[in-house]
Amino acid sequence: MKKKILFLFFLGAVFFLFVTSGIKGDFDKSIQTEPEFLWKIHDMDRPLPPVVTPGAIVTPGKPPSDSIVLFDGKDLSKWCDSKGQPSKWKGERDYMEVVKKAGSIKTKQNFGDCQIHIEWRAPLPVNGKGQGRGNSGVFLMDTYEVQVLDSFDNRTYADGMAAAIYGQFPPLVNACRPPGEWQTYDIIFHRPHFDKNGNLTRPARMTVFHNGVLVQDNAELLGPTAWKKRVPYKAHPDKMPLSLQDHGNPVRYRNIWIREL
Ligand code: MG
Repeated sequence: MKKKILFLFFLGAVFFLFVTSGIKGDFDKSIQTEPEFLWKIHDMDRPLPPVVTPGAIVTPGKPPSDSIVLFDGKDLSKWCDSKGQPSKWKGERDYMEVVKKAGSIKTKQNFGDCQIHIEWRAPLPVNGKGQGRGNSGVFLMDTYEVQVLDSFDNRTYADGMAAAIYGQFPPLVNACRPPGEWQTYDIIFHRPHFDKNGNLTRPARMTVFHNGVLVQDNAELLGPTAWKKRVPYKAHPDKMPLSLQDHGNPVRYRNIWIREL
């Protein structure tokens, strides 16, 4: 009898250790997908990634031969506004520029899995701070945002800085160049999959290089981009436009090309 009690006590102790080790164990909050382990959205206490100075500035390269050139510095013929009308963004002098209140701009063509190269420039002189400084965004499938922001010496919440998957994953490092300098994003995107009932069967995934530095490493997206909230996936078509955000700041873009995967 005494042995049995001792054995039960031992089993209980093992179980207790097992449970508590799961709670106390070290885990990387940045890659956990279980909602209870995630940082609060836009949590100001979430650690900021280390600053990395990217390599030398490179002049825009020629797009690969199998890419679809979305903007070559000439016109906005591949783009329209969110209602499908001609966009009021500036599209001249080798770059396109956000025009406040013109709304986002989107491609006329739809895309799913893809590789994207895009160059952007935060405004100079500097105006505003935090989320109000050089804010725009690259929206894959018009739904999933890679944040564009002047994050050069400009504090904001980690999941809202440049190269963050907005509201979800801060970049691994802050590889921002100073405002007024051209910067690059190279994005590899795999769309989410849904079954015929609209249930998610595979989340979207994203890898991002900022100025040639890895900042998102095959991140598994939690759902569509939203502000101050995390919302669940909602079924959508396999291909949708790429869009760029008008957040009221005159951010410029150039040399945009895409390869379908
Ligand atoms: Mg944005």
